[in-house]
Amino acid sequence: GQGLMAGKRGLILGVANNRSIAYGIAKACVDHGAEVALTYQGEAFKKRVEPLAEELGAHVVGHCDVTDPESLDTVFENVGKLWDRIDFVVHAIAFSDKEELTGRYVETTRENFLRTMDISVFSFTTIAKRAEPLMTNGGSMLTLTYYGAEKVMPHYNVMGVAKAALEASVRYLAVDLGAKGIRVNAISAGPIKTLAASGIGDFRYILKWNEYNAPLKRTVSPEEVGDSGLYLLSDLSRGVTGEVHHVDSGYHVVGMKAVDAPDI
Ligand code: NAD
Repeated sequence: GQGLMAGKRGLILGVANNRSIAYGIAKACVDHGAEVALTYQGEAFKKRVEPLAEELGAHVVGHCDVTDPESLDTVFENVGKLWDRIDFVVHAIAFSDKEELTGRYVETTRENFLRTMDISVFSFTTIAKRAEPLMTNGGSMLTLTYYGAEKVMPHYNVMGVAKAALEASVRYLAVDLGAKGIRVNAISAGPIKTLAASGIGDFRYILKWNEYNAPLKRTVSPEEVGDSGLYLLSDLSRGVTGEVHHVDSGYHVVGMKAVDAPDI
């Protein structure tokens, strides 16, 4: 094949539907010549992911629930049967109880804290460990994070704490895997109306606020995150690892946000 990603093969976890950030990344990779494998979380998502995979010409390597290590074993077995080597992995998975994505962080329960950290943080580390032996020619691993890791954002709560741990994981994994030519990076995406985002309190307000205050005066799309993902997954970024790259219309650089925004 031809293109930036020609000859590259990668596993992309976290496509739920065609608005998923993982779908934007998968599409960008395929459009630039990559071969891609997708997973789905349970039967309900299978019906959504299969037609998207067909449209992309992607493989489907099975059900993956990161709280079920056996499902991960099977997924990686299937990837190993499909290909003798992989070049990239995308982790676009997060979860927290909706009830706790509103109100005060201090109210977080132990159960939801542990579950949020397991699904949204540990999963990236265990996926990295499983992908490492398949990346015999080096590789690129990518996860998705949010500004709520760096600064307190209303309603983001325990997910902000989890994203901070995820960003620290990116740095530790970058050191562990760097000698093998495996790079590990994150994209910190601006708010996008996806299924996962619909669980966050007042999300429409957050979108408006970002539109008003971001230097580019708009929010970003999954396609734009996909195109930046392409850079981090391709050899264009071969000198980059341990990085958190903001794809947020520049929102994170603005120190003094306007409070008198019309219509919000
Ligand atoms: P999405 O709902 O399309 O994707 C979330 C995915 O997580 C789904 O595919 C879901 O199946 C998967 N998932 C949840 N629990 C899982 C589990 N136990 N096992 C396996 N998979 C599981 O939403 P999205 O916004 O595309 O989210 C992708 C990533 O982007 C997440 O890490 C999210 O935190 C991050 N992110 C989103 C935004 C935003 O505003 N949408 C901004 C910054 C970062």
